[in-house]
Amino acid sequence: MRFVSTRGVAPAVDITAALAAGLAPDGGLYVPDPIPCAPPLDADADLADIASRLLAPYFDDSPLAAALPAICADAFDFPAPRLPLDDSGDAVLELFHGPTAAFKDFGARFLARALGALRHDGDPDVTVLVATSGDTGAAVAAAFDRRPGFRVVVLYPDGRVSPRQAHGLGCWGDNVRALRVAGTFDDCQRLVKQALGDAALRARVPLASANSISLGRLLPQAAYYARAALRQQRDTGAPANFIIPTGNLGNASACWLARRMGPPLGDIVLACNANDVLPRYFDGAPYTPADARATLANAMDVGAPSNFERLRHWHVDDAALRGAMRAFSVDDAAIRAAIAQAASDGAPVPCPHTATGLDVLRRLRAAGDTRAWIVVATAHPAKFESVVEPCIGRSVEAPPALADCLARPAHADPMAPDYDALRAVLLG
Ligand SMILES: *Cc1c(COP(=O)(O)O)cnc(C)c1O
Repeated sequence: MRFVSTRGVAPAVDITAALAAGLAPDGGLYVPDPIPCAPPLDADADLADIASRLLAPYFDDSPLAAALPAICADAFDFPAPRLPLDDSGDAVLELFHGPTAAFKDFGARFLARALGALRHDGDPDVTVLVATSGDTGAAVAAAFDRRPGFRVVVLYPDGRVSPRQAHGLGCWGDNVRALRVAGTFDDCQRLVKQALGDAALRARVPLASANSISLGRLLPQAAYYARAALRQQRDTGAPANFIIPTGNLGNASACWLARRMGPPLGDIVLACNANDVLPRYFDGAPYTPADARATLANAMDVGAPSNFERLRHWHVDDAALRGAMRAFSVDDAAIRAAIAQAASDGAPVPCPHTATGLDVLRRLRAAGDTRAWIVVATAHPAKFESVVEPCIGRSVEAPPALADCLARPAHADPMAPDYDALRAVLLG
């Protein structure tokens, strides 16, 4: 299988080069060419098994082909249950049962194990650099925690992540270094990009990135959509329709990819927060990236969704892409209302991101849609307790993995938002 750049200038590469590179040299994103069809899949199989079969076509002829089942077994070793929301046939797909209680654990764990399997004895250590506004950094740190041959350097904006999120970035082993940067998320991202583009530095310190455009995070996410859809069809005879809380379009691109490969997926609806670049585009306006605005669903505070370039590449024109999915914007008041409503209905309490999906479901119902929907639950509510608890008037208990992490000591080093400071850390 070959992978080409969305910008069409960089040469095609195989999966191992695409995984290691992150971004293509022409600045584009790697996409499989062509998108393969899924092999026959068994709805009763477990998630690791479905992942390994679904992903096999991407890895054929690669040195990772033989290791793929073991990589999937290790990366997908926690459940992704599809649970009824009420007795109407709607469901939630809970993707938050991993070590850091958000769906990003699936992609980060797969990437870590795939990069690990590509290493040879005697290879120099690789430094995985991540800028984060919260969830990504924790998932990547947990995925590489104590893995021989890797160290992780996480940059986050000091004072702009919740105390619990900060703890989740600084509570790992010696190979994970958290840097609290006196600046914004954009400063963190700029510093990481500068380091990744610094050839002289990279000659001395091998670097890898693990941001949301990484194929090693995107591809494995297709597996839980495929399995949920197969089971939905087995149980109801109809394809599965998904509502997906969306920021950088990583999770939603994986859903689109799963549908394109063949499993029985129906409609895809994106739930965005007040950052409404995608809802405007899907309603017919030109694509106009904007500065991100802060909302209660902070992991979706994105004004220029990085995977948009992949979706556009996969469709002949804007009309075709607009026909492939729809998008709605949900403001903070509606997020609070959806959390409170779930609690008063006796339904599972959502995190603020999942709450955007529940509000979109309510709006579809109000507009007369009677089909069954699966709302994707992207994080555990206990991770965002400062938003959730005031809405429901009681506390939410942290799941065991999150409680473990909160019980460990955490440490982060302060850093000025300047490149020399980061370079010194990386060379140190
Ligand atoms: C990252 C994240 C999202 C957004 O996912 P994208 O792949 O960026 O669209 C939604 N919810 C939570 C909890 C997240 O951490």
